[in-house]
Amino acid sequence: MSLVEVKGVTKRFGGLTAVSDVDLSVKAGEVHCLIGPNGAGKSTLFKLIVGLFPPTAGSILFDSVDVTAERPFARVQRGMSIKMQAPSVFKELPVQQNIQIALQDRVSGAERALEEQRLLELLGLAADAEKMAGALSHGQQQWLEIGMALALRPQLLLLDEPTAGMSPEETYKTGELIKSFNAEGMTVLVVEHDMAFVRQIAQRVTVLHLGKIFARGSLDEILNDEQVAEIYLGKTHAH
Ligand code: ADP
Ligand code: MG
Repeated sequence: MSLVEVKGVTKRFGGLTAVSDVDLSVKAGEVHCLIGPNGAGKSTLFKLIVGLFPPTAGSILFDSVDVTAERPFARVQRGMSIKMQAPSVFKELPVQQNIQIALQDRVSGAERALEEQRLLELLGLAADAEKMAGALSHGQQQWLEIGMALALRPQLLLLDEPTAGMSPEETYKTGELIKSFNAEGMTVLVVEHDMAFVRQIAQRVTVLHLGKIFARGSLDEILNDEQVAEIYLGKTHAH
């Protein structure tokens, strides 16, 4: 069953077509990676899915409901949550308070304290709860932000380049974290560049290039595709 159906979606910014007639289906329960060169339209497609932009054409279904005309807030209430590419933790506030802000709408009172602790432990940030978020390492700030997206207990978690700026160890740990949410039933759609990380987590992969779907399949199928190698991995062939 598809949790997300993107159907014929196009997004134009003036004369530039950032996303062009894209069909994408994300199955309930999978970890799906979206890859492609810079400027391919990956972040734009994410923003279209969560409703930060209206599409120029096409429709988006979530859990079989057409949400194309819905505001982001309504989609979040249906169970979507996004960690955007640009970091957005509150650096001047303690780690704990960042989590509290994210939890505010969903839980209250004693339940909030328990949930806060559960998230801090899951993220490996319990010992840093009182530090200012801005004092965390870059990788820890990324985890905090993932935690803020998770605080909503979404059905669908969208992560745009979650491992940017992380060390290989932090990247691996992030992969294990994503696999743990997925094992509990969360569907995860991830934009990522690091192929080792994609191999660690992805069940299916979609390649976007110049706003269009270029290839889809398992990571091995994608890596064995010569055309993908040309556009994405930068391999050159003699012509
Ligand atoms: P990716 O995430 O794959 O690197 P983006 O979705 O960020 O690509 O961008 C795709 C194209 O759309 C780029 O050419 C980018 O400059 C353009 N673009 C993205 N957002 C906007 C915007 N808000 N206004 C105008 N152009 C945009
Ligand atoms: Mg991007």
